Amino acid sequence: MVDTKNQYLKIKTEVDSAIHEVLDSAAYINGKPVQDFTQSLNNYIGAKYTVTCANGTDALQIAMMALDLQPGDEVITPSFTYIATTEVVALLRLKPVFVEVDAQTFCMDIDALKKAITPKTKAIVPVHLYGHAANMEAIMQVAAAHNLYVIEDNAQAIGANYTFSDGTVKKTGNIGHIGCTSFYPSKNLGAYGDGGAIFTNDEALATKMKMIANHGQQKRYYHEMVGCNSRLDSIQAAVLNIKLQHLDSYILARQSAADFYNKAFAQHPAITVPHVADYSSHVYHQYTLILSGVNRDALSAYLAEKKIPSMIYYPVPGHKQAMFASLGTPVHLATTDWLTERVISLPMHTELDADQLSYITENVLAFINQ
Ligand SMILES: *Cc1c(COP(=O)(O)O)cnc(C)c1O
Repeated sequence: MVDTKNQYLKIKTEVDSAIHEVLDSAAYINGKPVQDFTQSLNNYIGAKYTVTCANGTDALQIAMMALDLQPGDEVITPSFTYIATTEVVALLRLKPVFVEVDAQTFCMDIDALKKAITPKTKAIVPVHLYGHAANMEAIMQVAAAHNLYVIEDNAQAIGANYTFSDGTVKKTGNIGHIGCTSFYPSKNLGAYGDGGAIFTNDEALATKMKMIANHGQQKRYYHEMVGCNSRLDSIQAAVLNIKLQHLDSYILARQSAADFYNKAFAQHPAITVPHVADYSSHVYHQYTLILSGVNRDALSAYLAEKKIPSMIYYPVPGHKQAMFASLGTPVHLATTDWLTERVISLPMHTELDADQLSYITENVLAFINQ
């Protein structure tokens, strides 16, 4: 699905020397690369404050811990997402309220969001799934009307642009009260290990999140609140600092692979290619098709035989996960279930060449047309 090895080989000299610098400095924790990367990432996203941490799941957890929510408070989130988004809500003894997604963008449906709000609702966690932004302008309006926090799960969409109706453009992750992202190796800005970051324009929240990520302390050994231990290490920061300089070209490579796929599939009646809304650019963390009348398992098996990987993101939506069974009243999310049965993701990364793309598209079409 990804080719991090060949991507690495192209920047090997830079990366190897940056890693060796860290080894020589012996500042493995909170060394200069961490400060440098935090600053560069902050500039890239356009946020006032960036807090780095150990992974994207921690980023979400730290963000939610900073909001002083009470057990049982409701957090509205899509079910059609990676489990980390919703797991953290439950971990903090908050109540995940699963809402429907839009069948075109795979992101939070605005009417469903409005209907899910109750007096106990405290926060909304939209997910920019597969690299396409949720409808943030509408979400921020709903949040403002009901005095709710918005935490963006930007783990799959770093670098995506969101255009507001007045023409203002912002990076995803810098629109809600807090934005969270992940540097898991296969993410669009991937480290060679784990990493994560949190963005905000609110100074008080930034200070608090920094403390939470560091055992609740500002002054060493004086712990003002319960926190956790969540750090981006210097080696990962050094790698990310180099890769951030390539992020825009990586996004272009993904978009050109998506264009190739789109040309091959767009006219086919059994295939719906990814939709790109007016307000969002698409950074194609995943290239995900919706199939109609195609035996998806048989297609996957056929592709696997031809050594073409494919994946279902995600085979079980949140509202059907056993870990949430104790939440009680089951919810029915028809669009989420419908999508879950029909989506398939094809290889998507920065190193796909025309030969590989032709081979993949020809085989997908050969199976569907047979
Ligand atoms: C990857 C991902 C996360 C979690 O990131 P980790 O770094 O793996 O903890 C959270 N949300 C979404 C949507 C993701 O894709």
